[in-house]
Amino acid sequence: MSGFQRIAVLGSTGSIGESTLDVIARHPDRLAVYALSAHSRMEKLAQQARASGARVVVVPDDAARQRFFQAWPDRTPLPEVRVGASALADTAADPDCDTVMAAIVGAAGLPSALAAARAGKRVLLANKEALVAAGSLFMAAVRDHGAELLPIDSEHNAIFQCLPHGDRAAAPTRPAAGVRRLILTASGGPFRDRDPAELHGITPAQACAHPNWSMGRKISVDSATMANKGLEVIEAHWLFAMPRERIEVLIHPQSVVHSMVEYEDGSVLAQLGQPDMRTPIAYGLGFPERLASGVGLLDLARWGRLDFEKPDLRRFPCLGLAFDALSAGQGACIALNAANEIAVDAFLHDRLPYTRIPQVIAETLEWHAGRPSVTLNHLDDVLAEDAAARAHAAGSVPAVAS
Ligand code: NDP
Ligand code: MG
Repeated sequence: MSGFQRIAVLGSTGSIGESTLDVIARHPDRLAVYALSAHSRMEKLAQQARASGARVVVVPDDAARQRFFQAWPDRTPLPEVRVGASALADTAADPDCDTVMAAIVGAAGLPSALAAARAGKRVLLANKEALVAAGSLFMAAVRDHGAELLPIDSEHNAIFQCLPHGDRAAAPTRPAAGVRRLILTASGGPFRDRDPAELHGITPAQACAHPNWSMGRKISVDSATMANKGLEVIEAHWLFAMPRERIEVLIHPQSVVHSMVEYEDGSVLAQLGQPDMRTPIAYGLGFPERLASGVGLLDLARWGRLDFEKPDLRRFPCLGLAFDALSAGQGACIALNAANEIAVDAFLHDRLPYTRIPQVIAETLEWHAGRPSVTLNHLDDVLAEDAAARAHAAGSVPAVAS
């Protein structure tokens, strides 16, 4: 895509949303905000809409709309305020926007990401849960509607950058020619070296203190448990049409090598950079050109060394569970993602000990394995399966804080 882009940033008040607005503001000659969306932070949404000149904002309900109006200064012309989940999907498909940044957290971001793909937009996909829950549906929508899919998750963006030019199909149906393996790197999170026996009393603040990346709370916990890397293995499977056994995970504590592609001839291509999401975001916004992102120089001499090691699946059971779910099929992936969202939310609200997170996922996967298999060809099928898995997982989580 060349020329001027009007962008809808869905989930603008989050970590990815903020970084996206930062990059957009650096390029007023070629990028403009068309729409923003938020779920709870209406004051921040109002500030962002004022600063970016957004024409549309999307909020979840009438109460949020009132709070948005209260936060809006008198005498400034209001943007159009749209309300509800269907308005999110409509905005993603709006003919007045060219590019959609899908940066809502969780499966809640699936319908709008899918709507953007079905409308043939350039889709900058940060929301990995959408692919985990509905990979085949989403990739088929990209193919069938001529959308342009650019992965924003740093590992997948790195792999995309390392793949051969001729194989940059938006939604491939087979692995790129000559590729042997994809190697996803993982920092190992804040508890990489902790004795698992010490993890029981971990607090949300400790789990969210990621050593290298500054991110939203849900993905920070996912990084600590390595459920995030598990979701990313499933994401890589769909994005690059890569079978499970050709996707490897390596712990790399410095988070400088963002991922690698190994070729049949033994060559391994890697993408390196500072751990700052503005690099993959600028790549997605500028593709195929390169845009300034505000990210500084990578000082490899300061790092001196880069370390790699195999992950220990006993220490990080969530990663093994994700590999199992990918082997079991899409229904299991939906159950894995739903259970993880429920468990992480309960942990963040002091209703579940940290060490119970993998147990809730494992129990939900077991429950799912005993269910009759269903077809998942429509969004409604996926959402119904997701709702059933959430209800089951919620049953194994206390309703009030202990
Ligand atoms: P944040 O929690 O920081 O932001 C989430 C955004 O989604 C906020 O704008 C929030 O609104 C909105 N939101 C939350 N719940 C809903 C809902 N039910 N309906 C509509 N909107 C909702 O998350 P991140 O920015 O960290 O992550 C966003 C996505 O990007 C995730 O899928 C994550 O896995 C992925 N990602 C993030 C990375 C990072 O570095 N942060 C790296 C790679 C991928 P509000 O704040 O107003 O409540
Ligand atoms: Mg990532």
